[in-house]
Amino acid sequence: MTDKVHRAAVPGKAGVWVETGFENANPQSADDIRVRRKGVVEIRQRLERGASEDYAFHLHVALANEGRAAAAARLRIRWATRRHDGCYDHMYIGYDDGREWRMLATRAARGVTDLELVVPPGRHLLCLHPKFDYGDCLEMLDRYGTHPAGRIDVAMTPEGRVVSCLRLGKRGAPRLVITTRAHPYETAGAFCMSGWMESIAGARPDGEEHHEGHEEHETILGPSASRAALDRLEIFLFPMINPDAVAAGNCCLAPTGVNFGRELFPRRGEDAGARGLADFILGLEPSFYLDMHNYTGPHLVDDFRTPDAALAEAVRPVLPDRSRDQKTWKVTVTPFHEGYLSEVCRRRFGTVPILTEFPWYLRRPEDMREHGRLFFDALLSVLAGWREGNRRQTQMDAEKRDTTKGTKSI
Ligand SMILES: [Zn+2]
Repeated sequence: MTDKVHRAAVPGKAGVWVETGFENANPQSADDIRVRRKGVVEIRQRLERGASEDYAFHLHVALANEGRAAAAARLRIRWATRRHDGCYDHMYIGYDDGREWRMLATRAARGVTDLELVVPPGRHLLCLHPKFDYGDCLEMLDRYGTHPAGRIDVAMTPEGRVVSCLRLGKRGAPRLVITTRAHPYETAGAFCMSGWMESIAGARPDGEEHHEGHEEHETILGPSASRAALDRLEIFLFPMINPDAVAAGNCCLAPTGVNFGRELFPRRGEDAGARGLADFILGLEPSFYLDMHNYTGPHLVDDFRTPDAALAEAVRPVLPDRSRDQKTWKVTVTPFHEGYLSEVCRRRFGTVPILTEFPWYLRRPEDMREHGRLFFDALLSVLAGWREGNRRQTQMDAEKRDTTKGTKSI
């Protein structure tokens, strides 16, 4: 694990720097930040070798102002592709190392974004999405790993990072697996999870104690629909399944070259993290499997996909209104790619697979946390009442349409 910081001085602005090279930064190399003429610092986004241009959506640099007054900085970002100009029309600035985020309107043309930023004193982040790095993941596991959940370490990555989950709900009840960060830049799911965990943890009655090994019933009083669901489901929540890729600042692939979306199962033998994760999840024989992704670009829909027509039907009426975030729901019944671990689980155990794509556009982290809390409350209220009969139907439905033709690559 290297954490080398590279700095480029903003010309004409004493004490103002653009930094990269740290964990989760993109780009990582000193060669990719250069001082150009007219006081411009050029930042070259990097897409890791072997990744499709359709994932060129990670950028993370820091802006340091060591002075006592705000200063303006002129930046030029060269994206790894010219194909997605429209998706780079907004970025995020994280003030004070990401403690507070604002969305910026930007504009890319032919793979280049020119922007001028006001940099307050201190260290701030410039990202395509609000960042959630491995340190944030460990902090989340620490915060909730003894209450209201338990922490389970399920795998060790080739670079020595632990892949962990939070377990909560009723032991022995039908199992729900929730994963995110198959693709390392897609941070929306982690913010959704943290918003929901916060609401669950905050609702704990005083004096309640956690009993280790108390198999029968772990009582957690959630604030709303989740309360009932936690009595009827056992939940395994993975805030980051691909931490090596996150640390490397990659866009799509683990450093081993494995795409943790559609290659997580077929190429698990090439990545110890993928193997341990797949073995653990298959061992759970989950009833439900939600894999969370995120769109980049000015999207006005929150996507909910499943091959299960009955689930789509049941979920549609209870999904929360998110129009204040300028979003509507799009619920789609579609076969899943055969390499998704959720699809492998469906074939083996009749698991109900679900995939979401939640865009950041127009959302701050607090909005995404609220979105996660409301979405999980709605989804869990449906899953808690799901019956085995529905589960068998799922298997039959999907077998009838068992084709990956026309499935978007994730
Ligand atoms: Zn994705």
